[in-house]
Amino acid sequence: MLQTPPPVHGSASAGDAYLPASGNGGYRVDHYDLNLDYRVATNRLTATATIRARALTGLDRFSLDLAGLTVEKVTVAGAPAAKIVHSARKLVITPATPLVAGEPFEVTVRYRGAPHPVRSHWGEVGWEELTDGVLVAGQPSGAPSWFPCNDHPRDKASFRIQLTCEAPYTVVSNGPVLAKSTRSGRTTWTFGVVEPMAPYLASVQIGRYRRHDIAAAPVAHSLFFPPALARQVAVDFARLGEMIAVFSAAFGPYPFPAYAVVVTDDELEIPLEAHGLGVFGRNHVDGLHGSDRLIAHELAHQWFGNSLTLTRWADIWLHEGFACYAEWIWAEASGGITAHASAVLHRAELDALPKNIVVGDPGPQDMFDDRVYKRGALALHAVRQAIGDEAFFTALRAYARTHRHGNVTPEHLLGCFSAAAGTAVADKIVARWVSAKALPQLKPDPPAPAH
Ligand SMILES: [Zn+2]
Repeated sequence: MLQTPPPVHGSASAGDAYLPASGNGGYRVDHYDLNLDYRVATNRLTATATIRARALTGLDRFSLDLAGLTVEKVTVAGAPAAKIVHSARKLVITPATPLVAGEPFEVTVRYRGAPHPVRSHWGEVGWEELTDGVLVAGQPSGAPSWFPCNDHPRDKASFRIQLTCEAPYTVVSNGPVLAKSTRSGRTTWTFGVVEPMAPYLASVQIGRYRRHDIAAAPVAHSLFFPPALARQVAVDFARLGEMIAVFSAAFGPYPFPAYAVVVTDDELEIPLEAHGLGVFGRNHVDGLHGSDRLIAHELAHQWFGNSLTLTRWADIWLHEGFACYAEWIWAEASGGITAHASAVLHRAELDALPKNIVVGDPGPQDMFDDRVYKRGALALHAVRQAIGDEAFFTALRAYARTHRHGNVTPEHLLGCFSAAAGTAVADKIVARWVSAKALPQLKPDPPAPAH
């Protein structure tokens, strides 16, 4: 007779060497339902998160990531938790009855506080107050600053995000607005994300924004911006639809129902991507197309990063190398320099920098080092040179289609290159560019122009 193994403590780590404190083991999340009541004026959040998950093994204890907020009550399957321990970043829950392997369960966390960013190797990330509003920059470990989660990109889930705040503010989040209603000077906004979304890509943007819907097809895309920046924003984002068309031709259909761009009234060090969203600072708009490169970069992350999400943070070049290469593709398609000229230029720049990191495993401190971006892009360009435009873009589209809304590894990408090129030549090229420190030479010949 088979005996059920005794329940175990779920791990308080997803086991990612780059962010060992993030994520948890023993279960997978199917859905987050976030109900947030927020006061912009005082930065006060009162919230309830209902998480539907599935135990992978019998669990007598499991954890969620949650930082800087006060937990008031936790229930599991409707029953109050037998015990909760909330440390700086982990909420450890002992359910009244152990969770059964393979069975779904629902955990509800009621919490409140003044959300603030969490400190990381990469500066402060997460929920951040603006001068008059809020920005969420979740990458890579900021999600727990505003909701309890299993904070690893491997554990994607659907979301419903409902936020109530003062009526004069516009709230932008992931996915379409499902409902909006105002009562007693406060507006409730409800958003739904049906595609699996990594927790770090969940976002809320709050500000006194004006909305402009640029076009409804082939992908609905909108702008949210401070009215005072209307003129500059209209100029700088005028070619967004064209950009979506260029990337859809190169990478396959845009992966989500819509794309929205938020321009904050504050300056931001760097723009950032979220699921279905690109967020820019007022310093990134000049009315002179000065940020085309950045606009292309954030848009490309919708395919590479948000739809196709890394499996381990060490493979961050699968996000940043692609987004950088997309900048070069856009420059070429929009009448600027060719992708090959960009490649030559950036290889020369890299040659002047220390060659002391391996782009395919740069270490957590150098995850967002510019060399990861540029050498990742150069690896793609070198493959394009070797296998030709047709096989290269066929492979990218197959990669984006096969792993749509999933998690990827370099092996997935190489598999698509091999299938499209009929040879594993890309394996060696990619290895030279991302798995070694020495900087390879580029082939001098530009590839044939794209059709
Ligand atoms: Zn990026």
